[in-house]
Amino acid sequence: MAFEGLTEKLSNAFKKLRGKGRLSEADVKEAMREIRLALLEADVSFKVVKDFIARVTERAVGADVLESLTPAQMIVKIVNEELTALMGGDSVKLNLSSRPPTVVMVVGLNGAGKTTNCAKLAGFMKKQNGKRPLLAACDTFRPAAIHQLEVVGEQLGIPVFQMGQSDPVDIAKSAIEHAKKHGNDLVFLDTAGRLHVDEELMEQLKVMKAAVDPDEILLVVDAMIGQDAVNAAKAFDEALDITGVMLTKLDGDARGGAALSIKAVTGKPIKFVGVGEKLDQVEVFHPDRMSSRILGMGDVLSLIEKAQQNFDLKKAAELQEKMKKNRLTLTDFYDQLVQFKGMGSMQDLAGMLPGVDAKALEGADLDKNALGKTEAIILSMTPEERENPALLNSSRKKRIAAGSGTQVVDVNRLLKQFEMMQQMTRQMAGMSGGKMARKMAR
Ligand code: GDP
Repeated sequence: MAFEGLTEKLSNAFKKLRGKGRLSEADVKEAMREIRLALLEADVSFKVVKDFIARVTERAVGADVLESLTPAQMIVKIVNEELTALMGGDSVKLNLSSRPPTVVMVVGLNGAGKTTNCAKLAGFMKKQNGKRPLLAACDTFRPAAIHQLEVVGEQLGIPVFQMGQSDPVDIAKSAIEHAKKHGNDLVFLDTAGRLHVDEELMEQLKVMKAAVDPDEILLVVDAMIGQDAVNAAKAFDEALDITGVMLTKLDGDARGGAALSIKAVTGKPIKFVGVGEKLDQVEVFHPDRMSSRILGMGDVLSLIEKAQQNFDLKKAAELQEKMKKNRLTLTDFYDQLVQFKGMGSMQDLAGMLPGVDAKALEGADLDKNALGKTEAIILSMTPEERENPALLNSSRKKRIAAGSGTQVVDVNRLLKQFEMMQQMTRQMAGMSGGKMARKMAR
């Protein structure tokens, strides 16, 4: 997971402060030295670190902090606020035009994730904002880019406009015309990249910018390349005056340098982050939540949002109804499992909880295996068996174990768990409707 080293070093620095009770100015200076080193090792720009430490020190050595009852906590709070400010403070939305279609020029170096993330963003805007996006294949430099965009567009059910190897500016203009005619209110222009920042590329992009007057120029950068990402951001911004950044591959072991330096160096906000190769693995960037995560304080809000996106509310209501009537089946049990799995890996989820050391959960894939086993067992049952587990005699259990590649003990364990869940819901159902209130009033 990203930022692991940084989180660990910062929490060590704070631990030492907490252990001290009263703090002197020298204690604060020592902690600042450690924080400075942690940030530099995370590949944050030298000047950004220097200014950051100066700001935090100035606030932390004030009498109101040092003489407070909880000086260490106040310093964590200051660092949290300053990290949030460093990353831009508030989250910033995509610039949407009041006269659609909104035109988003997506630019960046090869391999940063432009093509994939054009599609991810289009999918996100369709799902979350009810937009009708169009993807335009303007990268005629990389031979496979057009086909790649068509493939991801198809996966998301989003139309792709292409004119083969024509002039990219002509393609962009025609795509916008096409969008106007077909009611697409958002156009993503997937532009060409290069391996390194290159004069010719910048010239081409400037010509395209002048021709289509985009509402947004979103730069896609790879978080894994740290300072190189920041340098690329600076070069693209100087040439094109970008309006925002999308930081990709935050699911990898990026050290944090790019996320923490880009806003300070370019003045442009990170608007989105890519957190995986799958097309729905995109998130709005929230500086405050990211800061909480870096400080090991968790990101409960993102966790809740993830749950809301993955859990089918209608199904949840149906489930509640069934629970009330005590009619829970193994099919319901299975549905819950699938929804739970859709939320991502155990480790990623745990990293969003405060105080949970995600690293300690590296073996948590075991749990995933257990989930997989349960899923296989339920899928090996007939629909009648799922509705009525009482049918499961020993020969049926043997058949199910063989079908799911498990043992009869695994099947029995699952049935036991299910029985316990049923008992619990029975008790809950029994307590509802007045009984509960009477019990509590006693
Ligand atoms: P382009 O050359 O900039 O158009 O880059 P691509 O869209 O082809 O992406 C390059 C590679 O990065 C592909 O293998 C993508 O699947 C991968 N990628 C893109 N975004 C992410 C992300 O957020 N996380 C991870 N792990 N991989 C990503």
